[in-house]
Amino acid sequence: MIAERIVAVQSSLAGLAIDALLVSAGSDLPYLTGYRAMPLERITALVVPAVGDPVLFVPELEAPRVETTVEVHGWGETDDPIGRIAARLPADGTIAVGDQMWAMFLIAFQERLPRARFVDAAPVLAPLRIIKDDDEMEALRKAARAADTVADQLGDVRFSGRTERDLAREIGERLIAEGHDSVSFAIVASGPNGASPHHEPGGRVIGDGDAVVADFGGRVRGYGSDTTRMYVVGSPPNGFADAYAVLEAAQDAAVRAVAPGATAESIDAAARRVIAEAGYGDFFIHRTGHGIGLDAHEPPYIVEGNTEPVAPGMTFSIEPGIYVPGQWGMRIEDIVVVTGSGVDRLNRSSRKVRVVE
Ligand code: ZN
Ligand code: ZN
Ligand code: ZN
Repeated sequence: MIAERIVAVQSSLAGLAIDALLVSAGSDLPYLTGYRAMPLERITALVVPAVGDPVLFVPELEAPRVETTVEVHGWGETDDPIGRIAARLPADGTIAVGDQMWAMFLIAFQERLPRARFVDAAPVLAPLRIIKDDDEMEALRKAARAADTVADQLGDVRFSGRTERDLAREIGERLIAEGHDSVSFAIVASGPNGASPHHEPGGRVIGDGDAVVADFGGRVRGYGSDTTRMYVVGSPPNGFADAYAVLEAAQDAAVRAVAPGATAESIDAAARRVIAEAGYGDFFIHRTGHGIGLDAHEPPYIVEGNTEPVAPGMTFSIEPGIYVPGQWGMRIEDIVVVTGSGVDRLNRSSRKVRVVE
């Protein structure tokens, strides 16, 4: 898998007349090596020349953690890693730089290689990473299934009398218990807090009549899950049930709009139209979705203005929401994959509101 990706990168470099690719922290590195580096002041960097073998430079003390088929060079505490890495780069050529390289490293390379031209690596890597291969799809499916199990389990959990923070901690534990390697986030937004889409779970005690947004995800072999379901303690607040019916229809419309060749913005419009026509347009305050893979948010972005067509193998969220400030919020989120003929939902847990105690 890694070898195929390196070959694809090299053919892309050749096609774009770029002499080498240079990536450090961030998800491009595990995509091309299988190794995720901690973002540290000690540089980890992969050099992929357009022709020849790639080399991964790591701080010597991190070397025991590195499992990869790529050639690894450790550098010691008193070495000059920028100099050693620069020696593998074309002094007069064009170098594509991964978008998560720290500015301090890039500036150091620019000073060391004053005649080289540094360009954005996104045109090289984004078209590859946006289409998931079988191995990646398997991890994404496994992650989605585990998240679905947790969403179902929460229907039997007591919400009332507990803080958002306490419930978020339990969601994290359940994500791990169901097979995630790590927890990425667990948003629990109760009552009026639900109107803030990325609310940080806090000390608010959940009580009777609260609508609760639970949006959570973790990683399986580096690939993310991300799902949102709604829970209501007892009977729902005023206006909630009517709006929820609209939201369900909007989410469904957007999922049904997904097909090879459909533009990202047309998928966004499918959800937005339903919500706007029901009079809630001003309360849908974010894009409909984001790609997911090694990064929790990555291309394609399902947003007005993105005229890129979606294609088989792309995975992204469909997550419209309605947020009424001071009252409540609601969101339904599934990860979907574009197939050869249409769409497949990776998240299959019930999208109905779960009534909890
Ligand atoms: Zn979000
Ligand atoms: Zn989410
Ligand atoms: Zn999401």
